[in-house]
Order: sequence, then C-alpha cells, then structure tokens
Amino acid sequence: MIDELDGIGPELAKRFTILGVKTIADLINFFPRRYEDYSDITSIERIKPGPVTIQAQIKQAKGRYVRRGMHITEAVASDKSGSVRLIWFNQPYRAAALRSKTDYFISGDFALSHQRLSIINPSIELVSAFPLNTARIVPIYRETKGLRSYLIRRCISKIIKLIDEFPETLPEWLLKQEQLMSRSEAYKMMHFPLSSDNLVLAQRRLGFEEVFELSLASLLNKQEVQSEVSLAIKFNVALAREFVSHLPFKLTDDQRAVIWRIYQDVGRKYPMNRLVEGDVGSGKTVVAVMGSLMVLRQGYQVAFMAPTELLALQHAETIYQMLQPLHQENLLTVLVGSMSKDQKNKAHQAISSGQARFIIGTHALIQEDVTMRKLAFVIIDEQHRFGVEQRKTLMAKAGHMPHVLSLTATPIPRTLALTLYGELDVSLLKDKPPGRKPVITKIISPNSLSQLYKKIDQELGAGRQMFVVCPIITDSTVIKVDSVEKIYEQFSKKDFKHRRVGLLHGKMRSDEKNRVMEAFVNKKLDILVATTVIEVGIDVANATIMLIESADRFGLAQIHQLRGRVGRGQHQGYCYLIMSTSNLPPKRIQILESSNDGFELADLDLTFRGPGALYGSLQHGALDLRIAKLDDMKLIRSARSAAEQFIDKHEDLLQYKELSNKVTALRAVTNLN
Ligand code: ADP
Ligand code: MG
Repeated sequence: MIDELDGIGPELAKRFTILGVKTIADLINFFPRRYEDYSDITSIERIKPGPVTIQAQIKQAKGRYVRRGMHITEAVASDKSGSVRLIWFNQPYRAAALRSKTDYFISGDFALSHQRLSIINPSIELVSAFPLNTARIVPIYRETKGLRSYLIRRCISKIIKLIDEFPETLPEWLLKQEQLMSRSEAYKMMHFPLSSDNLVLAQRRLGFEEVFELSLASLLNKQEVQSEVSLAIKFNVALAREFVSHLPFKLTDDQRAVIWRIYQDVGRKYPMNRLVEGDVGSGKTVVAVMGSLMVLRQGYQVAFMAPTELLALQHAETIYQMLQPLHQENLLTVLVGSMSKDQKNKAHQAISSGQARFIIGTHALIQEDVTMRKLAFVIIDEQHRFGVEQRKTLMAKAGHMPHVLSLTATPIPRTLALTLYGELDVSLLKDKPPGRKPVITKIISPNSLSQLYKKIDQELGAGRQMFVVCPIITDSTVIKVDSVEKIYEQFSKKDFKHRRVGLLHGKMRSDEKNRVMEAFVNKKLDILVATTVIEVGIDVANATIMLIESADRFGLAQIHQLRGRVGRGQHQGYCYLIMSTSNLPPKRIQILESSNDGFELADLDLTFRGPGALYGSLQHGALDLRIAKLDDMKLIRSARSAAEQFIDKHEDLLQYKELSNKVTALRAVTNLN
C-alpha cells in the first residue's frame, strides 16, 4: 500500500485513491498525461516570451496583499547576464521560503503581467543533478484537489529506484530485433525522461509491449479454437439454390462471397469464428440465415441471439418468411424474457428435445435453464452489444465449440481489428443492396426548430413517420439535455399535438415496449420518441425522418446507425441533428452531413473520441491500450508480426513468467475463445 512510503500519510494516500492509485505498483504505473519541456537553460539576457528555464539567484523577495483575497509575491532573479522579475499569485508562503545567495533552477512562462514581462508562477528548486520540477522535461500528471503534479513527482521520485528491479518481460531476441529499450529503463523515462528522444523510445517500447501481448493472446486463442474439433458440415448446392430462388431480391456480390466463405468455414473440422461487418442495411440477416442453412439441414441447432426483444421478434418474422418456402418454418422457436411462463416452458421443451432447430432470442437464450440439444451454429447479431461472458455462455451450451458467426454494423477500423479481434476472421459487406438512397442529413440549431417542425409536419401529413431519439430518459440536473420524457410531453401536448405520439425507452416493461413498437410498425403512431433502444436493427419502411436531440452528445458511428433506421423503403429519408447549443457544431458532427460511409465515420470517431466511443462500456478495460496509439499502424504491424514470430518459433511462453501471466489474463477477456 502506498502509505507505507516515507512522507505519504493517510491524508495524502486518500487523495491518491481518488486518482485510482492505491499500491506502489499503481503509482509506478501512473504515467504522466503530458510533458512540458523546460530542459533548455537560458541566460537571462536571452530569454524570450514562452516557457523558459534559468539558473539564477534570488533577491528582494516580498509578498503583499493587493486587494482582498489577492496576494502577490515578487522577486528578482539574476544571473551573470542580467535580471528578471518573478511573480507568483496567491502563494503567500513563497517569499519566506526563498534564500539569497543560493543557486536555483527556475522554470515558468515568461510573459506580460501588469504591463511588464515577468516569469509567472514559476517552479523553483535548488540546483541539483536530478531536478524534478524544473530544468528538465517535466511530467504533468492527472491531478486532484490537494495533489498537484509536483507532489506526485516527489512521491514517484522516491520509488524510482524500485524500477531497477523490474524484470524484463520480452524475449532477448525480440528486444534486439526491434531495438527496444529495456522495460525498467522505459518506465523510468516515462516519468522522468532525460530527453525527448528518450521519451519517444520509452513510449515505443511500452506501446509495443501492449500490442505484442494483446496480439499474442488473440493468436493463442485462435490457435486453440483451431485445435478444437467441431462438426464439419457438408455443402448442399441444391439447398442453396432453392433458398436463393425464393428470395424477393438478388443477393449482392458481397453477400454471395461472404456466404460462400461461411460454407467453407463450416465445412472444416475446426470451428468457424467469423465476424461479418456491414453497414446498416447492408443485408447481414440474410447472409447469416443462408450461412446456417446447411447446418439446419443436417439436423443440428442454430441459435440466433439479438440484443433486444424488439429486434429478436422482428428477426423471427423475417426468418420465418425465409424458411417458409423451404417448409422449414416449423423448426423456428422464439425465446424472449417477456414471454409467459407457459410459453417459455414450451420453448424450453422444444429446445431441449431438439425439435426446435432455429432458435431466435435475446439474453433469455443464455439462461441456465435453457439446454440446447445439438447446437452447432451460433449467430450473434450486433455483437458489440454483448459482453464477452454472455457470448461465451451461449457457446458453452453447445457442449463443444460451435461455429460462431458475429454480425456488426459498427465497422471496426483495421488497426483495432488487428489487435482486439486478431483471432477473428473478418468479412466485409461493402456494397449495399441496389437502389438505396443516402439519407439527407442536416444539422439544426436549437433556434430554428419551428421551421423544422413545419417541414416535418408536412411529411407526417403525407403519411410518413418519424423517430425521435434523445440521449437520456428522465431530466437530470447533471446533464443539461432534453430527456425522452420531456420531449414526449412537449411533442404530444404542444408541437405535434394533432399527431399520434408514442414513447419508448429501456426502463419500460418488455411487453409495453413491444406494444408501442408494434403500434409504430402498424402505422398507429406517427411519431416515436425513444432512447437509443431503437438503435439496432429495427426495420420500419414507412419511417422517413430521424430526429436526434442533443446530437452533439452522440458518437458518429452511433448517429450513423440511427439514421440507418430511416429511408429504408421507397421514400427519401431525412436525418435532423438538433444541437444542444446554438454554438458552431463540432467538426466531427459536421462530417455527418457530407459522409455516408460507416467505415470512414468509425475511423473518425476513433481519432476524435477513442475506442470507448465505438465500443461503449462493454469492452473490458483490460483491453484498453494505455500507450500505443491505435492509429500507429507501423507499431501495431510490427508488434503483431513479432507475436506471430513468437508462435512460429515455438517459444515456450511459461519460460517468460511475467509475459505469460499477462497474456493469460488477456486471453480470458479478448473476444471469443
Ligand atoms: P442489416 O445489415 O442492417 O442487418 P438487414 O439484414 O436488416 O440489414 O437488411 C436490410 C433490408 O435489406 C431488409 O429489408 C432486407 O430484406 C433487405 N435486403 C437484404 N439483402 C438485399 C439485397 N441483396 N437486395 C435488396 N434488398 C436486400
Ligand atoms: Mg441487422
């Protein structure tokens, strides 16, 4: 524990806890957020406005109160070349602490203050070989009240010696080959870099290690999956032809190619583990269903798990239509939480007896009391909506490793795919079914709503429908945005009181949600005010308007998903992004007006907001890269290829104790195993 350290009492330890630092190891791993370069020592006659460091002695230090509550300390610093004024605001203890005829390092911003150039609020410390706060590249940490960076620096400097004991984690040959700094050196340089080149090397070393470990974990997982035996499913060309002949549309080339890949995957003796990425509306459902066809024909079970009941029910409807012409519709069973006890029992019965073969459901599928009979193929729709544990539980129901097909409309940028999803085979559905018109997207300032409402009302008058999405359910004092309840009130009682308005959010009971959604699908409602529960999958051909409240609070990929809900039929779709303020909309939001490319938007989200924006809170924190940058393709490639080499060399992981511990922990949380 950190309070074992000299000079860290219980009070300080408590403040460290606020920053998430409890142990000495936490402290060593508490890397600076950024650095300020004060390493150049200038003579006073040559200082220029900006950050400066001087080595000087201090004269005439005195403090005074200038007006109530405002204290100023002034001093003069001199070296051989000249003098400069130092000024501190509200640090009344300063003057007394300064000694004359003593050499100090003084670092701070040389700028105008009260019409005179001075060094403002400088850091100052005695000249030494190892200054902490001045005359160096100074680390700036995340701070909290009563725990400023200088204090953190002091605490870390006390344990810096411990870092020498750090064992090396990477193999000797790898350090050589990639010219990597040793681990202990890198840790030291992260906190107290000797030069900016050194800092870059330290970051590279630790970033490399992160990606290397992650890659190794996912490659080992992949290896393990491939060593599992699963059912090899025969391809039946007549069946494929028949299925296609009953479709109301022609498959796109991409759809055909992906389905073909799936047939190849399931034809092998080891389990498929494939992710299909396709923008909203690219037609992933039919790919998954057709992909599972051979498995179904051979008498095994297929499980299709969707993140919401609405979606599961809608899928059931679609899939029923697809299986009916093949006379397989009686194999279909639905299992969702809101079903009655009796209905559930029947479904369980059908599933465990094996009579149900195409099973569609929500999380209800992974409940303990569900026993699968011959589960051989698992489809996970909107896979980023599920946690690792949930996916694993479903797979465990097969008793052996089933073939797994994951679907996602959140395109994963390539770099991320290589690291986090390295063990998955990824297929893309790039082209969309023909005839899709891009949704017209407009940013709307809160000042011009009445015009917009007029336009919307015309569209509703012509028989179209509108989704309204709000970021939160109930008004909150913390977040200043309109809640779904408030907008519902306002629309149903005021702005659109002559229209039929419905309300839908995650806190409602499942059967209520289904009722409202059904009413909307059946055109019994003109407007549906909702939270992002409608984000995924829902298909309402007659809905043409997507209005997003406080759109600046959403991620790009998320807005793109939302607008994919409209303009699915023959009518033009519109997406209106209402800003929460009348300020200029953020750049990233502006991009939505011009780009309709889900991949581009996901990449941008990644640069603007980081991976959290793409994956929400579902991704395990252990997967977060702390140092490596996801856009550093070069680093990611070389670390990934190093992991491949490690495996090709048949290195024994256990020989590297630290590495093996970390990789084992990561293997448990990376995507699928
Ligand atoms: P998503 O990829 O978002 O899950 P869906 O599978 O829900 O997309 O498909 C969206 C719509 O496109 C559905 O109504 C589906 O019937 C239709 N569709 C799928 N493939 C094609 C195609 N090749 N041509 C025309 N329409 C298609
Ligand atoms: Mg879908």
